[in-house]
Amino acid sequence: MSRVLIVGAGLTGSLCACLLRREMRNKVQISVWDKARGPGGRMSTTRPPDASSHSADLGAQYITATPAYAQAHHSLYSELLSAGVLQPLDALLEGLKQKEDSKNYVTPLGMNSVVKHFLSESGADLFFERHVIGLYCRGASWEVERMAGGSETFDAVVLTMPVPQILELQGDLRRLLSVQQKQQLDQVVYSSRFAVALFFSPDVALSFPWAARYVSDNPCIRYIAVDARKRNIDIPGCGPSLVVHTSVPFGLQHLEQDKEDIQPIVLHELHRLIPGLPQPNSIKCHKWRYSQVLTSVPDCPGHMTVLDRPLLVCGGDAFSHSNFDGCVESALSMLRVLKACL
Ligand SMILES: Cc1cc2nc3c(=O)[nH]c(=O)nc-3n(C[C@H](O)[C@H](O)[C@H](O)COP(=O)(O)OP(=O)(O)OC[C@H]3O[C@@H](n4cnc5c(N)ncnc54)[C@H](O)[C@@H]3O)c2cc1C
Repeated sequence: MSRVLIVGAGLTGSLCACLLRREMRNKVQISVWDKARGPGGRMSTTRPPDASSHSADLGAQYITATPAYAQAHHSLYSELLSAGVLQPLDALLEGLKQKEDSKNYVTPLGMNSVVKHFLSESGADLFFERHVIGLYCRGASWEVERMAGGSETFDAVVLTMPVPQILELQGDLRRLLSVQQKQQLDQVVYSSRFAVALFFSPDVALSFPWAARYVSDNPCIRYIAVDARKRNIDIPGCGPSLVVHTSVPFGLQHLEQDKEDIQPIVLHELHRLIPGLPQPNSIKCHKWRYSQVLTSVPDCPGHMTVLDRPLLVCGGDAFSHSNFDGCVESALSMLRVLKACL
């Protein structure tokens, strides 16, 4: 049995774990480590502290399939639809500019349910709050160092975090990258945004008709969604929640500021856009330093092999493109490498 560590319980890592289990059932022992407290990564779904309101998707909002990807990834779309994880979008979205032949899907249980689905299918040993800080090549295996102290060894390691976080790792990784690989990784650029979730009490009714609105004339806010309406669900006794994303220029301009300083600015602009909005019970603000990939690794190879033996491979949306299908492409391409190597 080969021991494989996948770092990152986002979509790329969880799908890679799932596909690896399906293809190499009894030949691999898979572990997934994530520094966060739960699964999802940038497909994160958060809850208010008192659980009285609906949850809110802080990162990715929809899954949009172009005809080409709907066909290429047909089996995964069918799997998620028949498991009830995905549903066709059926809600009023104001200002969405989209090609007519693409299809939008929502996740009734929140975006992180896609990741949870693949993790549960993977049968992997899952560890959260496990922050990898170093990788050391020890003969035929990798010694993986944790921030909390201690290390473990694996026969192969898959890294799926954003590229700047890959490059921060101590140990042998940077030494093993070729000059060309370093240049390619240095070219990757991400947008940055702040996301704010407002959780309201169950007696609050929001009077506007839309489920989500793309804002084009505000210096701070780009997108607002009523989470349950977007997902087309109604949970009796649960208050509504609103998700606000700032624009990319605003995110970039305020990137080094604390989210506590940004939250009042976003709320001020929100009240200008929706006058009379009731007071929420609780608010969560999140800074996405690495939001969507603006410039991917050249030619979108899906993965980058740092070392063949012991295998160290990097993947994620930076190696393809920044959406569901980009992560699928990356996971599939890492699967090919893993199968060839193990
Ligand atoms: C605001 C926003 C809106 C978006 N909207 C959409 C959308 O509508 N539709 C769409 O398809 N896509 C959207 N995206 C993009 C989509 O979310 C990403 O492409 C996708 O989630 C990337 O998945 P990933 O697994 O490659 O990376 P991630 O989700 O970033 O997963 C990487 C994981 O690695 C973990 N990690 C990082 N460093 C370490 C470490 N040192 N040790 C252990 N763990 C570590 C992180 O905690 C994280 O969970 C959006 C993204 C954002 C932020």
